[in-house]
Amino acid sequence: MAEFDLIDLIRARCAIEREDVHLGIGDDAALLAVPAGQALAVSTDTLVSGIHFPKDTAPFDVGWKALAVNLSDLAAMGATPAWATLALTLPDADAQWVAAFADGFTALAGEFKLALVGGDTTRGPLAITVTVHGFVPEQLALRRAGAQAGDAVFVTGTLGDAAAGLALRQGAARRGRGEDQLIARLDRPTPRIAQGLLLRGRAHACIDVSDGLVADLGHICTASAVGAEIDLAMLPASPALLGCVADEERAPLQLAGGDDYELCFTAAPAIATELLNDLARSGCAATRIGRIVVEPGVRVRAADGGFVALPRTGWQHFSA
Ligand code: ADP
Ligand code: MG
Repeated sequence: MAEFDLIDLIRARCAIEREDVHLGIGDDAALLAVPAGQALAVSTDTLVSGIHFPKDTAPFDVGWKALAVNLSDLAAMGATPAWATLALTLPDADAQWVAAFADGFTALAGEFKLALVGGDTTRGPLAITVTVHGFVPEQLALRRAGAQAGDAVFVTGTLGDAAAGLALRQGAARRGRGEDQLIARLDRPTPRIAQGLLLRGRAHACIDVSDGLVADLGHICTASAVGAEIDLAMLPASPALLGCVADEERAPLQLAGGDDYELCFTAAPAIATELLNDLARSGCAATRIGRIVVEPGVRVRAADGGFVALPRTGWQHFSA
């Protein structure tokens, strides 16, 4: 299949209409209208086959995940998704693969009425770059900077599932019930858009957990010039994780495992109850897991009150 046929195929399968798209796929650039009074929130993420997803991941899931990891960044800013562009690098013009990929992308895009407005299609080792655009009133955007000593620290959903899913796929973890749910968390993450919107004007700082809790909370701490203490016993674990992973193997997955795409945020303790109630009603409950402190760095407290030694802090490219 030729490049333009592939583009037509993608355009046909990803057709979502929006009035603010004045010109979409087909010209040299898209023409888009940002609503008055809103800032444009823009974020890009690349997924490389074999690095960001296992090579045998189904194309539908690759399409879903390529968009999901980007929408997660918009969620972490408190932004409403609007548009995306898609740069696809494909080893060959496999129409069936592209169709399934586009269906996965659109399954998630449809949930947010997000329009695919352009992109690029090239030949090479499989890699997908998505850029998402969303709207947020600038004063309400959730930044990494802004956490204050005395804030409570929270996380949405559960932690460690995707890392356990990856271990299961690689055959390393103990087999048990809930395997499919853990693998689904790896392959089809859920961007916490609705939860990000609820945090507008309430959270002092926010980030999405893509590289692991300790690493990502560390980014909030660095940006805010504060530190954090996490209570290991408070970390939310799914029934699937509890069923598939032995107790002593759980902590590293929850602290350093990537790909969960939950939101980690801080807020004044005084609003914790109200915030947690609102989040629970939104369909994804959050959990209070610790506190912001003056002393820099992230420390994790075990049940006995002592600090846990942290082996590594998240996934970093280019590190030895
Ligand atoms: P140009 O050569 O002007 O950059 P292209 O031939 O690359 O244009 O693309 C033609 C049109 O198709 C453009 O509107 C571009 O945004 C769109 N497009 C190309 N590849 C993709 C893709 N993978 N997904 C969505 N739109 C795409
Ligand atoms: Mg052109």
